[in-house]
Amino acid sequence: MSDVTRQTFNEVMVPNYQPADIIPVRGAGSRLWDQQGREYVDFAGGIAVNVLGHCHPKLVAALTEQAGRLWHLSNVMTNEPALRLARKLTQKTFAQKVFFCNSGAEANEAALKLARRHAQTRFGAHKHEIISFVNAFHGRTLFTVSVGGQEKYTKGFEPLPGGITHLTFNNLAEVEARISDKTCAVIVEPVQGEGGITPATPEFLKGLRALCDKHKALLIFDEVQTGNGRTGTLYAYMQTGVTPNVLTTAKGLGGGFPIGAMLTTNEIAQSLPFGTHGSTYGGNPLACAVAEAVLDEIGRPEVMAGVVRRAEQLREGLNSLGRRYGLFEPVRGAGLLIGAPMSAAWKGRAKEVVNAGLKHGVWCLIAGPDILRLAPSLVVGEADVAEGLRRLEAACAELAAMPKAAGA
Ligand SMILES: *Cc1c(COP(=O)(O)O)cnc(C)c1O
Repeated sequence: MSDVTRQTFNEVMVPNYQPADIIPVRGAGSRLWDQQGREYVDFAGGIAVNVLGHCHPKLVAALTEQAGRLWHLSNVMTNEPALRLARKLTQKTFAQKVFFCNSGAEANEAALKLARRHAQTRFGAHKHEIISFVNAFHGRTLFTVSVGGQEKYTKGFEPLPGGITHLTFNNLAEVEARISDKTCAVIVEPVQGEGGITPATPEFLKGLRALCDKHKALLIFDEVQTGNGRTGTLYAYMQTGVTPNVLTTAKGLGGGFPIGAMLTTNEIAQSLPFGTHGSTYGGNPLACAVAEAVLDEIGRPEVMAGVVRRAEQLREGLNSLGRRYGLFEPVRGAGLLIGAPMSAAWKGRAKEVVNAGLKHGVWCLIAGPDILRLAPSLVVGEADVAEGLRRLEAACAELAAMPKAAGA
């Protein structure tokens, strides 16, 4: 028996999380094992992070190889893995310049600070307003929760940074009415993740691009959740016909090792000259060595083709479960970022499906109380998907058979 248990969490951890009752101790591919040796199919992927599953041999090799060479320098010196990773990111995207950090929130913090400084130095202090969207999620620093569009995350933390306007997602007319020459940036998720797996319409993104161009505002795509192959291309913008001025990435970039990055153009990058921003750990050799291996692996056409096939299999399986048990409605999302909205009869009860799933050996996520969310490994196998769906079916059957009062 281990001497730490779920109870230990309550004793020694700040109560800002409420983790599940089980404690996984080992993972391989899309399977996890808990302290009791019970096995789970992982459809959560560490919240869209473990793009290559658990302990992928190429990532283990990259990490252990780097671990025997060099761990950390700080940014007083640069390092080879960071330079190689930055070169790969610029070769594969619109960007020519990269800033490394350790998380999605930090990547967005950098993007927003860059937008402010860019506008201020080029046009003057009046051009500082940021437009973002209701239900958006951009991270948990004070600036990024303030730009995010979910009040529950800012409540109690006031006073908040100013100059931020929240508009309705996918409503271009509203943006057109509110954007002005005082706007320094519009920030948007190509698919709202935490906010409920809601894809932006192509017209909305194209319209934002045109409005930003007209008002000389930067268009920032927050691809922290949609990036790194999750939607079937390296970044989701590649399917939209719209190129942002700044792109933020994290989550899947490290495949489970903490790293974030902000990507932008040569010209805009000049607005963060020496000394204006930084991070001690940003560009850490261990993180960059792992991320380089992630990019190499998800850059293989077979991996992206697998995303499309597994997404199809999962969507069909979930839609079939939805029809047969009535818990949720047809799924939405992009690639292996999938949301199943709970049906009217099960409104607000997505968490019950997750809990029942764990009982039957499958780990799923929610995106708010009304959306069951799946974000498995991009290399999840056909048999793992089939087995996960079987276990999820057992969970759905159990919930659907419950006397109404018991679940209410
Ligand atoms: C998860 C997420 C973030 C925050 O990333 P952290 O690494 O938790 O700071 C920001 N934006 C989006 C779209 C996310 O999904």
